[in-house]
Amino acid sequence: MKNQRRDFIRGFAACAAAGALTGPFRLARAQNAARVIVIGGGYSGATCAKYIRRWAPDIEVTLIERAREFISCPLSNLVLGGTRTLAALTLNYDGLRKHGVKVVTGDAVAIDPVTRSVRLAGGETLAYDRLVIAPGIDPVYDTLPGLKSADAQNRVLHAWKAGEQTVALRKQLEAMRDGGVFAIHVPRAPYRCAPAPYERACQVAWYFKNAKPKSKVLVLDANEDVQSKKALFMAAWNGPYKGIVEYRPNSELTDVDVQTLTAKLEFEDVKADVLNIVPPQRASAIAASSGLITANGRWCGVDWLTMESIAQKGIHVLGDATLTAPVMPKSGHMANQHGKVCAAAVIALLKNQPVNEQPMMINTCYSFVDDKNAGHVSTVHTYDAQEKTMVVVKGSGGLSDKANEVEGGYANSWAKNIWADMLG
Ligand SMILES: Cc1cc2nc3c(=O)[nH]c(=O)nc-3n(C[C@H](O)[C@H](O)[C@H](O)COP(=O)(O)OP(=O)(O)OC[C@H]3O[C@@H](n4cnc5c(N)ncnc54)[C@H](O)[C@@H]3O)c2cc1C
Repeated sequence: MKNQRRDFIRGFAACAAAGALTGPFRLARAQNAARVIVIGGGYSGATCAKYIRRWAPDIEVTLIERAREFISCPLSNLVLGGTRTLAALTLNYDGLRKHGVKVVTGDAVAIDPVTRSVRLAGGETLAYDRLVIAPGIDPVYDTLPGLKSADAQNRVLHAWKAGEQTVALRKQLEAMRDGGVFAIHVPRAPYRCAPAPYERACQVAWYFKNAKPKSKVLVLDANEDVQSKKALFMAAWNGPYKGIVEYRPNSELTDVDVQTLTAKLEFEDVKADVLNIVPPQRASAIAASSGLITANGRWCGVDWLTMESIAQKGIHVLGDATLTAPVMPKSGHMANQHGKVCAAAVIALLKNQPVNEQPMMINTCYSFVDDKNAGHVSTVHTYDAQEKTMVVVKGSGGLSDKANEVEGGYANSWAKNIWADMLG
């Protein structure tokens, strides 16, 4: 409590000092309404921005997001299967505006924790009392020389941020000859959404089964085994997709020959007609350039009670960019939960109130194996004061061993509900 109060006073002192640079306006504002800036309007950032306004309408919230519209990664694999359009996964930010969130379309390029300000690519500077960074992930090509150039990355796509690449990858599949090979490479965990590469393999297999039955799907996995929902995916690969999908574990990628679409693995080379490399990932650029990365040069460590960075006071980090707690997935649902825990903590810190000492988070992640049938994995996570991290509640959660149509309906409802929760 004492620390929080000291931090609060220090925060206002910093604002007062900054006021000397930008005039009395800034000082007057800091005394009235506290200002929160959220960078990134995805699953975690949009949720956080909305819930701060819902729970504390006296706090000013500005969301900085480079994209004009939100496009969901969840369900984007179905665009590759051909049963969804990207338009069906695209939503605008008007709902947040109705909650009083000021939405700024722009690229945050620098953070100054001393003056507590964020600079945009256009040169504009915005001041904050607390900053939330929710920027998602960036691909890392350091270990793949063949994929370093922009040209190479445009030819061998990741489609791991839903958008143009998702549509481009679908076009590559449509253009492929019947009898061709689609190969997807899965990086070593942790990466964004553990089951998503295997869901993608099912979606492409479903498309091939219906439209190009002589074609094959190769799953080249750097890991020693399927990382999530193994029984469910195996049931699909050994059932309806037998003879179409082949799973190869321990397939570490060493490089890519973009001209021949060859994945160079430790022990073999695999040539494909459509090659989809999901590269290793790290917290997005703004987290890296702001010194927030604390683990393996990739992820941002946080205090799970507040989601505050362990490297930088006054800055909170959410979603996939975080160094996740044990068994905590990098998922949209979990990112949404980070957003809510953070919103409550930011309000408490700004209002000099106690922070919740027992935050809880839940996650349910569905995967479709075709156009209708899906299965889920779910867990409940709670704060462990001794370990100072989130742990799975014993006996919580569940896992489907086979996909079914009822869960397909739940999966569609999950998407509608979470989009309404974050953006509605
Ligand atoms: C194919 C696929 C399928 C998936 N399926 C599921 C699923 O079924 N269920 C599930 O729960 N999860 C799923 N996920 C995972 C889910 O998409 C991510 O875990 C989730 O998006 C993480 O949320 P986030 O807020 O951390 O990042 P994001 O949602 O990626 O949001 C980050 C935002 O920050 C913006 N941004 C970044 N830097 C800046 C900057 N400097 N200035 C301004 N804006 C910036 C970006 O434009 C982006 O909008 C899937 C992922 C993939 C790839």
